[in-house]
Amino acid sequence: MSDRRPMIAGNWKMNGLREEALALIADLAERTGGPPSHCDVVLCPPATLLHAVDGAGRRGFGWGGQDCHAEANGAHTGDISAEMLRDAGCGHVIVGHSERRADHGETDAQVRAKAEAAQRAGLVAILCVGETEAERDAGDAEGVVVRQLAGSAPSALAPETAIIAYEPVWAIGTGRTPTLEEIAAMHGRIRAWLDERTGQGAGFRILYGGSVKPDNAAEILALADVDGALVGGASLKAADFHAIIAACPGN
Ligand code: PEP
Repeated sequence: MSDRRPMIAGNWKMNGLREEALALIADLAERTGGPPSHCDVVLCPPATLLHAVDGAGRRGFGWGGQDCHAEANGAHTGDISAEMLRDAGCGHVIVGHSERRADHGETDAQVRAKAEAAQRAGLVAILCVGETEAERDAGDAEGVVVRQLAGSAPSALAPETAIIAYEPVWAIGTGRTPTLEEIAAMHGRIRAWLDERTGQGAGFRILYGGSVKPDNAAEILALADVDGALVGGASLKAADFHAIIAACPGN
């Protein structure tokens, strides 16, 4: 077991109005009794909610954005910069989520620019990679993930400023997950790539994401190269998200 501190991150996606968000956070904080000592918890709500949960309302959890623009400011209607997220109290930002890659046609090069923008602004980038079902069926899952890493990881890649999230596209929001062996193999491959690239593979946190639920969290989080989870649907239910946090090793 390494000394990598696990992280459970919640991706709320495009969900949450002010009142329900505040209630969810209060419920979660009551269940956890504040920020847990055994892992980092980072909540990534829609950007509109970041100020709604300002100050004490943040309950000691970490906060993150779901995307950022590569530029610090300028004529980019509807976009949000990494600096703005930082200004709104974020320490992290998700980049390259498969829904962004699919819905907005984001390329690896654009994702890299976003990850570098995150670093410029002092945020930790949570860089998402993962294969489609067809790519896995074709036996190319590892090849796809390695190509995405090579194309979208920031040039100054370091454990302090980047976290990798392995999220098989076909497992997101579907209730399906890879086998434990498949998750372990992919995380091992990602760590090997990180080590080849930086010489610091053992220092990086690699999260698994894709239909993590209370009933599968413990076995996934116990895998040697899994350092936490990026959780979508289950992060919107305080009881489920708390159960996943509680299943994290070290509790
Ligand atoms: C996600 O969107 O990052 C995710 C992992 O979603 P879910 O947990 O709902 O599969």
